[in-house]
Amino acid sequence: MTTRWVIASGNAKKLREFERLLAPLAIDVKPQSEWAVPEAPEPHDTFLENALAKARNAARHTGLPALADDSGLCVDALGGAPGVHSAFYAGPQKSDADNNAKLVAALRSIADRRAHYTAVLVFVRGVDDPEPIIAEGRWYGRIIDEPRGTGGFGYDPWFFDVELGLTAAEMPIDVKGSRSHRGRAFARLIAEWQARYGGACVERA
Ligand code: IMP
Repeated sequence: MTTRWVIASGNAKKLREFERLLAPLAIDVKPQSEWAVPEAPEPHDTFLENALAKARNAARHTGLPALADDSGLCVDALGGAPGVHSAFYAGPQKSDADNNAKLVAALRSIADRRAHYTAVLVFVRGVDDPEPIIAEGRWYGRIIDEPRGTGGFGYDPWFFDVELGLTAAEMPIDVKGSRSHRGRAFARLIAEWQARYGGACVERA
């Protein structure tokens, strides 16, 4: 049996990552743009509240089960900034280039470059689901001085995975998916989804 979900995101690069993560599963997923779902406001101070708002918004407009994520980069030396405001760090224009320029300027004279990405994923069966599935994932690394790589999006050219010796922008999408905050949260969410709702989610042959 194939299950149908809507993905509550308008970020094309994030959607590609979700499509790759979901590809092995018998879940038919479509982005919320297919139903012209308006973007949910993200007024909250936690990833969790924003992700829940996005998932409910997509479920409300489509009548379908919805998967949402809210994510961001948390830099230790900046007290966790840009954090939940990562998309808008340099202003409402939501520009990756502007955000990265602001980040690099803020860290110029700082030696401690520890940082992590966080993603909180929320799945709801419908707008009034009293038992959302919530899963968190983190990816630890460092912010480097010169950007490297052309893949990914957002802060990826500056986010260095010390173990692999690569920035997130230098990794093939499947490698990023196996290490990233979103990939880790996704694995947890799917495990819980399978535990709760069982055989409906089978791997594609
Ligand atoms: P959201 O779409 O409201 O969750 O905003 C997420 C923001 O966090 C993005 O616009 C990026 O700035 C940043 N971000 C989250 N995940 C990633 C990632 O995997 N790579 C690079 N930047 C990310």
